[in-house]
Amino acid sequence: MPRPLRIAIGGVHIESSTFTPHLSTADDFEVTRGDALLARYDWLAPVQPWAADVEWIPLVHAWALPGGVVDATSYDAWSTEITGMLAGIGPVDGVLLDIHGAMSVVGRDDAEGDLVTAIRSVIGPEPYISAAMDLHGNVSPVLFHGCDLLTCYRTAPHVDVWETRERAAHNLVDALRRGERPHKALVHVPILLPGEMTSTRIEPARSLYGRIPGIEARDGIVDAAIWIGFAWADQPRCRAAVVVTGTSAGPTTEAARELGEHFWAARDEFAFVAPTGSMDECLDAATVAVADPARRPFFISDSGDNPGAGGADDVTFALERMLARPAVRDGSLRAVYASLVDPEAVARIADQPLGSPVDVLAGGRIDPREPGPLRLVGTLEAVADDPDGGRCVSVRVGGLSVLLTSRRMQYRQVASYSRLGIAVDAVDIVVVKIGYLEPELFDAAGDWLLALTPGGVDQDLERLPYERLIRPLFPLDRDFVADLTVVTG
Ligand SMILES: [Zn+2]
Repeated sequence: MPRPLRIAIGGVHIESSTFTPHLSTADDFEVTRGDALLARYDWLAPVQPWAADVEWIPLVHAWALPGGVVDATSYDAWSTEITGMLAGIGPVDGVLLDIHGAMSVVGRDDAEGDLVTAIRSVIGPEPYISAAMDLHGNVSPVLFHGCDLLTCYRTAPHVDVWETRERAAHNLVDALRRGERPHKALVHVPILLPGEMTSTRIEPARSLYGRIPGIEARDGIVDAAIWIGFAWADQPRCRAAVVVTGTSAGPTTEAARELGEHFWAARDEFAFVAPTGSMDECLDAATVAVADPARRPFFISDSGDNPGAGGADDVTFALERMLARPAVRDGSLRAVYASLVDPEAVARIADQPLGSPVDVLAGGRIDPREPGPLRLVGTLEAVADDPDGGRCVSVRVGGLSVLLTSRRMQYRQVASYSRLGIAVDAVDIVVVKIGYLEPELFDAAGDWLLALTPGGVDQDLERLPYERLIRPLFPLDRDFVADLTVVTG
């Protein structure tokens, strides 16, 4: 009977934009250790057959909603905790890294690369490291060479998050039991696109990701993964990538080359997941559309300040455009604006009786771009405590409910609206800080437009002040021959 494998699990998981003024700190993270960390993984309760005879060792895991750059003190504390524990627990056979891949830390260009380097400095070159990532993460050369297995989600919106983590763990256990370090092959594809142009619900991403099962079924292949990369950080590593791992070098390299070439060949086909327009164009279209009951509720994504990609969550541009509409102010249109984070404004009004008059400045404190803090004059409509947003209020201005939260959050679930007494199917227009609609909203929507609003995660990449990307990079550059060299390891 061989001794049980020893596999440590940990990581820091956040997607953080360098273009938003929000600073992510330890307060923004949910941190798990010990049994609570292991309880994240449903293959351990009950223990799946492949996961038995493994000693799973929890390190520390920190997870946050996407945001701005992480302060170095918070990141260093977790990195030090991970390496300190690895130094203290004795030899391990493997490490499962549960990370996003688009973490920006103040002063670092490649935070996940730093983390894997720090881990290697403690455990040495022998143990296998398997990384489970978001397909919006980046695969830097340092991360690729530091890991033995790397994989990521295969769906966007992401409905295979836990499957991906389990696959990364399962492949790690299998590789350790085989006792042969996997072959791996990387192709960086010189493309940088917003997630809202690369949903796997539609072409060409649907077919591109649809190639993965066929490749994975081939002899000698363990896993194939495609990263879109992260568009809202100004770092040399930001770009698309393909990684294939396998038990046989030839097929592994060939599959990576093939996927990289298919990705590149599809570059001109990527388009936004929904029709787009300026905020005013979207409101014009929605106002006409809601005359047809089948098109209500009409959703508009305030995409430039999407907290789900790292936006500050308090840019007031879209709200100001709504309040400029007479049909919204006089109540002939019933609308919801979700949401602005503003703990000060919430604290000022939340203890008033419902129905009290409200006159408060809201938003524009973290990201003060035009028009900045906005004066809301209305009545207090509802107060609720939300597991994500903390204390939240709804301020009614004419036909519009403006939702204010105490913590950054995203109104991507119907229940979040219900807590404030809002049935989304009973309103005409819902404007929400989001990119592509997450599944519940997608199902609830009668129709949908993506507004290309300003913010730290502006979907119009041409408007972002990139200085440090490695060029050429499609679509910022269009007329060049791609270098699709396969890097092996
Ligand atoms: Zn993602």
